[in-house]
Amino acid sequence: MAMITEEAFRAEARAFLDAHAERRVEEKFEWGKGSDRVGLLDEKTPAQEAAEVATAKQWKGSEFDAGFGWITGPEEFGGRALSATHERAYRSVASQYAIPNQTIFAIGLGMVAPTILAHAIPSVKARYLRPLYRGDIVGCQLFSEPVAGSDLAGIQTSAVRDGDEWVLNGQKVWTSGAHYSDIGEIITRTSPDKPKHKGLTMFLVDMKAPGVEVRPLRQMTGGASFNEVFFDDVRVPDSHRLGDVDEGWTAALTTLMNERAAIGGGGAGFSNAGFTRFKELAIHLGLDEDPIVRQRLAEIYIQLAVTRYTGLRSMARIRAGQLPGPEMSIGKLALTQNMQRISQTLGEMLGPALVADTGQWGTYAWAEYVLGIPGARVAGGTDEIMRNIVGERVLGLAKEPRGSD
Ligand SMILES: Cc1cc2nc3c(=O)[nH]c(=O)nc-3n(C[C@H](O)[C@H](O)[C@H](O)COP(=O)(O)OP(=O)(O)OC[C@H]3O[C@@H](n4cnc5c(N)ncnc54)[C@H](O)[C@@H]3O)c2cc1C
Repeated sequence: MAMITEEAFRAEARAFLDAHAERRVEEKFEWGKGSDRVGLLDEKTPAQEAAEVATAKQWKGSEFDAGFGWITGPEEFGGRALSATHERAYRSVASQYAIPNQTIFAIGLGMVAPTILAHAIPSVKARYLRPLYRGDIVGCQLFSEPVAGSDLAGIQTSAVRDGDEWVLNGQKVWTSGAHYSDIGEIITRTSPDKPKHKGLTMFLVDMKAPGVEVRPLRQMTGGASFNEVFFDDVRVPDSHRLGDVDEGWTAALTTLMNERAAIGGGGAGFSNAGFTRFKELAIHLGLDEDPIVRQRLAEIYIQLAVTRYTGLRSMARIRAGQLPGPEMSIGKLALTQNMQRISQTLGEMLGPALVADTGQWGTYAWAEYVLGIPGARVAGGTDEIMRNIVGERVLGLAKEPRGSD
């Protein structure tokens, strides 16, 4: 396909969006008006979730068919082979429109698809990449196990070769979105006798295959976004291996770097609208003249700005052709530290109203945000693990003592 200028591409994007979506109307914040929900996790009933998944897929399909589903992807697998500048141009134009929530695709497109592109054989790329980017199928990440999270290389789910297939047995946990996913990227142990990082192999598994059982886990805010996933003699064709046998750690690193880039790289911050709500709370409570609260608000504002600029700087490096690196851990850590700062100030401002519902708009609602923070501090690598990475790989400090590798 011939290269299209950025200006012509923007016009094409606007024509598509005008025909398929409404313009986003920025509503001015008014205390007491509209929903006061401020949550970090999805808290939906299964029926609400099913409707949201259907709407998200429908949008993704029309976006893909119009040529905006995988702007930078290779043409042979359904991409448009345009530059990152075109991708940014589309995101910037699309941000002006009210588009259905697309978070169900975050893991499949942010982590699984880049790993398929980097490590799968051509026929598997051809089979899955297009449907993933078209929203026909959804992908999940099957890494963590009850005994292995931070120490990912300690996983025990086994894969044993049987002719042209592998037979998988074991259990994964905390699998976000497994209940609406069609495929999963799973890390397994193939050589128990080798050092633990060396005996792992990555596969793409069909989530509807016989022997796969998905059981929802309920989070403390009420919803059930995560699952336990059990594998009982699940058969996976050898063609669905991502990378070489016993070289799964390399494929896992591709996924993890993309995960940290997705979480810490700028997207998942505390938005301007969120900060406005937070500031308005101080005004509503008559605390905006309080010197300590003012100082805290200013400090949080500065930290949020620094985090945003650090994220933009990392993203610029990626756009310049470099892989997401350990500096992504700074972004992830800064994000959760800011959440904690906000949470602590909320506690000081609201007191008991944060934990007991007085019925007052915009007060107890913050409890849902505060209860989501421990999960954010753990997801995609815990605060402590991020500190270890920053210490060892960014600052070049001595390595912490580790057990057997
Ligand atoms: C919201 C959310 C979504 C998730 N989604 C997925 C998903 O889709 N797929 C998936 O595979 N997993 C998912 N996870 C799991 C997540 O990756 C793990 O929870 C995480 O890696 C931590 O592992 P763990 O829970 O086993 O805790 P552990 O590793 O057991 O850690 C327990 C505590 O010990 C600390 N610790 C551990 N090792 C060290 C060390 N070396 N130095 C200092 N401190 C240490 C940790 O920081 C933590 O405080 C999700 C988790 C959350 C909360």
